[in-house]
Amino acid sequence: MDRPRRVPLIVSPTPMHQLGRAGDDLGIDLWIKRDDLTGFALGGNKGRKLEYLIAAALDSGADCVVTCGAIQSNFVRQLGAACACYGLECHAVVMRLPYDQAAGKPSGGTELANSGNELLDQLLGVHLQVVPDDDWEVLYKAMELHATELQQAGHRPYVIPVGGSSPLGALAFYEAAKEIDQEFDWIVTASSSGSTQTGLTYAFAGTRTRVLGVCSDPEPEIVHDFVDLGSSLAPLIGRDRLEASSFAMDFDHVGPGYGVPSEEGNAAISYLARREGIFLDPVYSGKAFAALMDLTSSGVLAGRVLFWHTGGIPALFAM
Ligand SMILES: *Cc1c(COP(=O)(O)O)cnc(C)c1O
Repeated sequence: MDRPRRVPLIVSPTPMHQLGRAGDDLGIDLWIKRDDLTGFALGGNKGRKLEYLIAAALDSGADCVVTCGAIQSNFVRQLGAACACYGLECHAVVMRLPYDQAAGKPSGGTELANSGNELLDQLLGVHLQVVPDDDWEVLYKAMELHATELQQAGHRPYVIPVGGSSPLGALAFYEAAKEIDQEFDWIVTASSSGSTQTGLTYAFAGTRTRVLGVCSDPEPEIVHDFVDLGSSLAPLIGRDRLEASSFAMDFDHVGPGYGVPSEEGNAAISYLARREGIFLDPVYSGKAFAALMDLTSSGVLAGRVLFWHTGGIPALFAM
């Protein structure tokens, strides 16, 4: 089957190198994949997905895109930049702190107004529509309503799910796995809307490499969304669909909740900065690296371990 088209946005392959000092501390052969250095709009994992998503938006004849997320969304920032490159208007319906209904609203958010990704969105001309905090379902509905309103006003919107996690987003990470030219026992990555983990999990299924997603959301049910996403990816790559048991997920390092920094995560951010001169972010990669340290000391992770850095650094300036 013909692979979907993509437009160029990032510089790939992204660098991959050993973390000698941190690896010595932890007693493992530790490597890092630098998707914080995609070379596009201050880096991050969303640039890969956008190469496919923007091509699909253009092919659909859209004149604007609509998405949703948290106000410090790294996806909205990278989408805004991609839209700027291809002459699309970018609309994002956002909440300061969307939350999981069952887990309740996290407290302790310290987000500063007009900072980090929000500031960059303004520079990029993203149309941010801020709606009151509520759960994710309410946010998705608000996005659909906004798309309908744009359509009624004569626009041709292309709707992109939160985090760019459509089957094309997962395809981007299935393809990204081809940049890994060595064998690892584990690949550890932050995981949220799921296309990063889903693409990598499909790519390494049937090999000795296990992909561990460290979740940023306190919601174990999310694995069913990943399974569904994988079911739509499978026909694009000619593979059988994977069951929930194929996804290795950690929910023990969310801390106070989605979008709220954790003590452990902040300690991991300082640790990696001081040991390797590399910055992590407070919402995703800091918590994922904290999990890596924790699971290494408890013996769950061992051998050759690749930390897939997903970026997110602008949020450091907002929290
Ligand atoms: C979006 C994001 C993730 C999660 O990736 P998904 O594909 O949405 O699961 C992880 N880290 C950072 C920095 C992100 O911006």
